[in-house]
Amino acid sequence: MKMVHPSLKEKFIGPPPLEPQRVMRVNEPCWCGSEKKWKKCHRDREGQTPEPIGKLLDRQRSEKLKGYCLHPEASETNCSQQIVRAHTVQRRGGLAAIAENGHVISAKKAFEDIIKNEGEIIPRKLGVKDASTFMGFCSFHDNQMFDPIEKNPLCLNTESAFLLSFRAISYEYFIKEAALRSNKFQRELDKGRSFEEQSSIQQYLHLVRKGMERGMADLEKWKSEYDYAYIAKKFSEFASYSVQFSGLLPIVASGAFMPEYDFNGTRLQIISRGTASFDHLCFNLTSVGEKSIVVLGWSGESGGPAESFFNSFQNLDNQKKANAAFYLAIEHLENIYFQPSWWESQPPHIKEELIKRFRSGTGASGTIRTLKSLSSFPYTLSELHVEEELRT
Ligand SMILES: [Zn+2]
Ligand SMILES: [Zn+2]
Repeated sequence: MKMVHPSLKEKFIGPPPLEPQRVMRVNEPCWCGSEKKWKKCHRDREGQTPEPIGKLLDRQRSEKLKGYCLHPEASETNCSQQIVRAHTVQRRGGLAAIAENGHVISAKKAFEDIIKNEGEIIPRKLGVKDASTFMGFCSFHDNQMFDPIEKNPLCLNTESAFLLSFRAISYEYFIKEAALRSNKFQRELDKGRSFEEQSSIQQYLHLVRKGMERGMADLEKWKSEYDYAYIAKKFSEFASYSVQFSGLLPIVASGAFMPEYDFNGTRLQIISRGTASFDHLCFNLTSVGEKSIVVLGWSGESGGPAESFFNSFQNLDNQKKANAAFYLAIEHLENIYFQPSWWESQPPHIKEELIKRFRSGTGASGTIRTLKSLSSFPYTLSELHVEEELRT
């Protein structure tokens, strides 16, 4: 039975705003929420030398390089010394299948280049070695845990669907945790600014941070569920749905997302409302041999948003699922890569549409996710059909 997620009935209540103060007692905790004393934080902010934006971006990048192991049994004694660049999309399978001269096109890199490109979003080439990696596992656990899904060809079963989902949720956890750490040093962006400017910058960062903290709490909950299932070898408590297409799509992707609308345009949950935890889905779009596969994995209550989302995907016509999966990856994930010759050959209006869809839900201005995001597609990006399906 279909369950109505509590967020659909809640009003939006934002977190209480900061209360900026021109003068405080010197040893009082600063109004900005940094947990530093006022005298060491905002007292002399206006007179401080502004930080160059390049330096801030470097710090942001270095946060993503601070690795640690996300294996369920990670500990000082269990882990090996070295944290490796773990691939989220299989390097030998998925990435190799779409790479040309060792390169793929990264959409995410376009955001890192946004200042260099004067605000324009321009996806660019990236070496396969660097694509889709994150510093989320020690070398021992990366090999041990993911060996079954790094084999080529990948065998689709309950265990491999679980492992792909585990890696996807670990990736999201790692990226969001690094972003939250970055938010802390972004507090220093207001050096040299007037009190009014300091107030509005801090207020903005405060709202972003509260949203991230909420997201992190959900991610911690999901991650611990996956950890438990892995240790207890209870993969069957996780649902998964895998589809193999009749050929190769020019895109690979890996990550997790909170579904907002399904493929019929039905609203499933409203992220940012209420206090009930949200449902998520893990999504992998990779390949087995010369065929693309999609693997959806989820937990959550029967009839909840995740299961409803899956149902709407499964019920699509088998000729339409490849196109739908393509749009889904672009709409909800940032960890996506295109085949270079495919991307280059797209006419400008399609590139524009893809970039627009890619920006929805990222908070970047211009695109808002709507009930049409996944229920009506302006272009046909793939006409592959479904060859095999597996529901566990
Ligand atoms: Zn402060
Ligand atoms: Zn480890």
